Amino acid sequence: MKVLVVEDEYRIAQAIKEGLEDEGYAVDAEHNGQDGYNAASAAPDDYDIILLDVMLPQMNGFEVAKQLRVDGNHVPILMLTAKDAEADIVHGLDAGADDYLAKPFSFEVLLARMRALLRRPQATTGEVFEVGDLTLNPATKQVTRSGSEIQLTAKEFAILEYLMRNAGQVLSKESIITHVWDFDADVLPNNVEVFMTFLRSKIDKPFAVPLLHTVRGFGYKLSA
Ligand code: CA
Repeated sequence: MKVLVVEDEYRIAQAIKEGLEDEGYAVDAEHNGQDGYNAASAAPDDYDIILLDVMLPQMNGFEVAKQLRVDGNHVPILMLTAKDAEADIVHGLDAGADDYLAKPFSFEVLLARMRALLRRPQATTGEVFEVGDLTLNPATKQVTRSGSEIQLTAKEFAILEYLMRNAGQVLSKESIITHVWDFDADVLPNNVEVFMTFLRSKIDKPFAVPLLHTVRGFGYKLSA
């Protein structure tokens, strides 16, 4: 899952970025409203969620959210508001934000709010994704197949989560790269193939029915 953090205080932006990366998210950070808006508009399908500060130079968070919605961009937006003022919350939600979190916030609460916004009713049963007998729980980071737990690295987990959230769809290597790695990472399509080989050896090899399919010339698809 790829996150865009728009926060002008570098220290806070960096802390959020590092914390989310520890949780397996890919994170890009921008430090003013205009750059945040530009990043979100330049690649409207790359980000799965935006964490948007309210008080920002150049364009404030309300303006960024409003403009993205006017553009037809429906990426989930979690507004980070410095004050708990009711007017700010109403303003933020009216501008197009999906939820808000008042600073200072607990990191655990931030993660829970993000999971709630990333939940897609049609793809989930409660909080757990299922494809065939393979399950993935984004909250506990647990992956099982046929009831046995499978140990994945953080990157393998992030790739599998992206595949499971989009089960049945063919995903290109480029799309996997943009959703799983941040823009500073030097990742080539060949690297994706290597990760897919690792992933396949863990989730498919020991089992009779393969779930991870290579669609030659296009990419990968996870389906039962
Ligand atoms: Ca700020």
